[in-house]
Amino acid sequence: MSDFDYDLFVIGGGSGGVRAARVAAGEAGAKVALAEEDRYGGTCVIRGCVPKKLMVFASEYAPMMDDAAAYGWTVHAGGFDWQKFHGQLVDELDRLEGIYRRLLAGSGVETFDARAKLVDAHTVELSTGERRTAKHILLAMGGRPVKPGIPGEEHAITSNEIFHLPELPKSILIVGGGYIACEFAGVMNGLGVKTTQYYRGAQILRGFDEEARGLVSEEMIQNGVELHLGTNVIEMEKTETGIHVKATNGDKRDFDVVMFATGRHPNTEDMGLEEVGVKLGRKGEVLVDDYGQTSVPSIYAVGDVTDRVNLTPVAIREGMAFVETVFKGNPTKADHELIPTAIFTQPEMGTVGLSEEEARDKGPIEVYSTSFRPMQTLFAGREARVMMKLIVCADTRRVLGCHIVAPGAGEMIQLAGIAIKMGATKEDFDRTVAVHPTMSEEIVTMKSPVRTA
Ligand code: NDP
Repeated sequence: MSDFDYDLFVIGGGSGGVRAARVAAGEAGAKVALAEEDRYGGTCVIRGCVPKKLMVFASEYAPMMDDAAAYGWTVHAGGFDWQKFHGQLVDELDRLEGIYRRLLAGSGVETFDARAKLVDAHTVELSTGERRTAKHILLAMGGRPVKPGIPGEEHAITSNEIFHLPELPKSILIVGGGYIACEFAGVMNGLGVKTTQYYRGAQILRGFDEEARGLVSEEMIQNGVELHLGTNVIEMEKTETGIHVKATNGDKRDFDVVMFATGRHPNTEDMGLEEVGVKLGRKGEVLVDDYGQTSVPSIYAVGDVTDRVNLTPVAIREGMAFVETVFKGNPTKADHELIPTAIFTQPEMGTVGLSEEEARDKGPIEVYSTSFRPMQTLFAGREARVMMKLIVCADTRRVLGCHIVAPGAGEMIQLAGIAIKMGATKEDFDRTVAVHPTMSEEIVTMKSPVRTA
């Protein structure tokens, strides 16, 4: 008989926390509880990946309508009905949250709709005042968007609010050049909102392959996003007609809505973490070892709260590795190598492995790259270009990186990721027969390197 109320208490009902709780209870037979102060499903389901992707889908119909006309369809003029879309979006999020709650209940996890804080290495206190003890505690509180700290920023929204605007604005300024800023610039532009994006650096999507992000940026501009590089907001104030923004490039302009997509911070404030000895890093992230264990042996952490690779599938893997390690007696490290990822810009970017810039610092490489106008939109008279790129180690012939900028790049990179994770060489790609006519066939038909480095 355990001295604790539970074997495991999970704080946070997002992707990582829910998966760990379900598997610990359902597969390992542990007695598990989970506390969530907001909605079940976390950032991904409620205010991130899922509603974002639905908005991306909604926004992509505008160019498709033009293409349909070019293909001979009679297309009737009409507009986008934000209220109709939003109603359906809310219903879908409710449905998904219901699924998450049922999955937890079905696995025998006891849930608390409350905020939980640490009291000691084995005790949590809920916002209801109740205390519960557990042999292990899993921190899975995720992260939240942060504003940069400029005068008037309270008038701006973040990605938390963009899904629930009362109406679609006529104009929007998006600040930042990361995943979130670039994805929403595409979404808003596609929905017909006059979209301006300010990014302080020289090129958006810092850290990704330069050629790939260069093409995304060019295509975004072609599609109508007014992108200002090397530009930031100095201050803003609310006026009768909108938000007046002063920028570092000398611009003084009014926007209906301003959104900051200037990064996210881990949710570790006011949680009692440091008081019980859990060490935090500079951004407030929970510091963990390869097994997700914090500086307090009974306390583990997974997902964005650890600020390692902030992606839902990674949090899920970390949750599974935690259960293997702690409840199945099989110490398992979450594998953070060669994670394929997609940025749902328009066009999409799919990427796995090293960028050209990262790879050439490690040793001699060959670069295979092609950029072209794909058949479907070329026929419709659009200038849009796509790009396929492989980075190959000149010594081992292994493909070190794959970068695709194209509609559907997210779907393509998932499959390229398997080959690259298996250690495929350029010759393995070459001996794979092309699927014709597709865009992705170019990935197996690039014969000569465009450069070596
Ligand atoms: P990122 O960290 O990717 O980007 C933040 C951006 O804001 C950067 O361009 C950064 O500039 C800029 N910035 C930071 N501080 C300031 C400032 N003070 N003033 C002006 N600009 C500033 O964060 P995101 O919020 O876009 O995304 C967070 C994470 O969420 C991502 O890293 C990713 O892991 C995940 N995510 C994944 C998605 C996917 O898989 N499709 C989609 C959305 C999010 P600089 O580059 O100069 O530092």
